[in-house]
Amino acid sequence: MEKIIVAGAGHGGLVAAAHFAKAGYDVTVYEKNAREDLGYDWQDTMGRSAFSRSGVPDLPQEELVDYYAMSFNSPSWKVKLVPEEPFLGSIAKVERKVLIKHLVDFAESCGVKFVFGAEISCALYNSDRVTGILYRTADSTLPDAADMIIDAAGMRSPVRTSLPDEFGVEKTIDDSDVFYGYRAYFDRVPGENAEGINDIMLYELGNPGMNWITVEGEYVDVLIGSFGHIEQELIDDTLADLRDHFPILGSKVLRGGQIAEIPLRKPASMFVCNGYAAVGDSAFMTETMSGSGITMSMRAGKMLADTIIYGKEDRFDIDNLWNYQSTYMRFIGNGQLDNHVIRSMLSGLTEDDLNYLLDNKVLTDKEFCNNPGSYSAQDMINKGLAVIKNPALIKLFASAGVKLAAAQRYKPMIPYNYNKAKISAANRAYAQF
Ligand SMILES: Cc1cc2nc3c(=O)[nH]c(=O)nc-3n(C[C@H](O)[C@H](O)[C@H](O)COP(=O)(O)OP(=O)(O)OC[C@H]3O[C@@H](n4cnc5c(N)ncnc54)[C@H](O)[C@@H]3O)c2cc1C
Repeated sequence: MEKIIVAGAGHGGLVAAAHFAKAGYDVTVYEKNAREDLGYDWQDTMGRSAFSRSGVPDLPQEELVDYYAMSFNSPSWKVKLVPEEPFLGSIAKVERKVLIKHLVDFAESCGVKFVFGAEISCALYNSDRVTGILYRTADSTLPDAADMIIDAAGMRSPVRTSLPDEFGVEKTIDDSDVFYGYRAYFDRVPGENAEGINDIMLYELGNPGMNWITVEGEYVDVLIGSFGHIEQELIDDTLADLRDHFPILGSKVLRGGQIAEIPLRKPASMFVCNGYAAVGDSAFMTETMSGSGITMSMRAGKMLADTIIYGKEDRFDIDNLWNYQSTYMRFIGNGQLDNHVIRSMLSGLTEDDLNYLLDNKVLTDKEFCNNPGSYSAQDMINKGLAVIKNPALIKLFASAGVKLAAAQRYKPMIPYNYNKAKISAANRAYAQF
């Protein structure tokens, strides 16, 4: 029986593992955490259709909480952009631990084996192929070999980062593409009004990033998100500022309270090689503007499983695995490339730039909240005039415009079938974004 190892119990890896086991492969997931410690202690948003699209049974309805789009506040707090239709029926909030348990249980019911408390230290490989992993348990370090390694061990995966350069897989991530998030659920200050609090703050206190505050039942849910490392001082200062604006925010951390990282960038330029495929954060598969990665990771897991199960004869070779990467890019990744360009432009803005753009209605609720309506000719003239008055912004916007145009020329360069020369040419073009 052909053997598949899944490195890390990431979402896409679990989806793929379940489908492989159902199709008759011998599948083992190695996960560093204990089973009961999987997943963050908070709720996340995901597409309701992620389950059906990835061939996973739905979560029970009572586990899916309605999601309402948030309002955006400018750094100066002078401008607040409010969504006209906040209810987003296609999205739900779910407890992360409940979701991971659901995926693990499903995979197990399909025949997947799990080794918890097994920390993978690196990939094993021969001249041109990944052949296994090395992992540590409480009392030993052991190798395990397989026909195929699925890397679902997240953004800092030791499998991906230990591959030799010649395998062509993109291994590292620039710090400028990492978003750091502190997330905690606080108590509510009794008697304070919770109504309408569902807010995002841009560059609060001048910190490049995005924070949010929302009230859910007994909790006040806070995210402090930053394009740079988060120090305790930033957390303390931001919480104090949030309490000034939202007196309902208490001081007791009831859940969460940890800092975690998100890869906020275009997908990896190459995430497959002989005997290896990365999925989810390990291949930088997130929505580049919001940092959401669960839905994409689950869908990618199904694409990967289909590529191998229904693939060519040498299904673990790059000739076949490339079809997974090209399918992912065509259906999901290419859209994120455009967002990557826009996100890079936005993260080049200063606090003053953002205030200027929002005060002068260059950026409005239409862009941030997807509010309906079109721009009048006068709106466009006013936007143009506001940008023209600010030379630094002209440069930033023009450069983003040029890159967006180049991105449209890049997309058709991705070959459907494996072709080393065409892939190299496409990757040279990809490197400019
Ligand atoms: C604060 C915050 C909020 C977020 N909010 C959302 C949201 O609302 N919606 C959304 O869609 N996404 C959200 N994300 C992003 C989301 O967490 C990821 O994109 C998503 O989890 C997909 O990642 P993954 O499953 O590939 O990897 P991970 O979730 O990182 O899973 C990797 C797994 O591999 C294991 N592992 C790692 N290293 C090893 C090793 N050496 N040996 C063995 N096992 C290992 C880990 O323990 C883990 O179980 C958020 C992220 C953060 C940090």
